[in-house]
Amino acid sequence: MLTDLAAIRHPMPVATEHDETTSESFDIAVAGVEEARAAFVESLDAAWEASGPGFDPLLATIEDLVAVKKDADTQIRLLLAYGRAYVAPRPYTLETLGQAADLSPSGASRAFGADEVVEVGDRTGLRPPAAKIEDYDPQDPRLGQASRTRCTWGGGDRNNRCPTHPKYTVTDKSGTRWACCDDHLPRYLASRPTR
Ligand SMILES: [Zn+2]
Repeated sequence: MLTDLAAIRHPMPVATEHDETTSESFDIAVAGVEEARAAFVESLDAAWEASGPGFDPLLATIEDLVAVKKDADTQIRLLLAYGRAYVAPRPYTLETLGQAADLSPSGASRAFGADEVVEVGDRTGLRPPAAKIEDYDPQDPRLGQASRTRCTWGGGDRNNRCPTHPKYTVTDKSGTRWACCDDHLPRYLASRPTR
């Protein structure tokens, strides 16, 4: 079964007559696939040994691929949020982003929200241009989950969070609301467009 799974998971390259690749680079590609298959079988063998007789290599392979797919979906949602909320002065349109993501414009819009915008800020250290400031209300349903408990505008990731209690709600140009403390308010002001 393991070699069957390896063959499905790592298919051999197909040589066509119109293919411009030389036979040498084709051989290299074949060698690469053989190597990948061997590593795949080896890691399944190791997992089998570690988990005992209850281990199912077919189900484990499917679960692995589902995890890869979920991770790719997460990254796509974050990249959509980035293109929409962080690229200035002209954010990508939902049409353009949707085309790249194989989504309708409204589907692209639904694919991310405040949590994704905040997550992009955490991963990159960036903050989108701000547009509005209000008093902080942790009960505000328009706030993302992270912004209900901490200063998300202040940067730093969730392991290195701003320790100061939020006092303001900052709204960026994409309409996403952030929690902001007194210390980080100057950064909001600095990011305001000058006239
Ligand atoms: Zn702060």
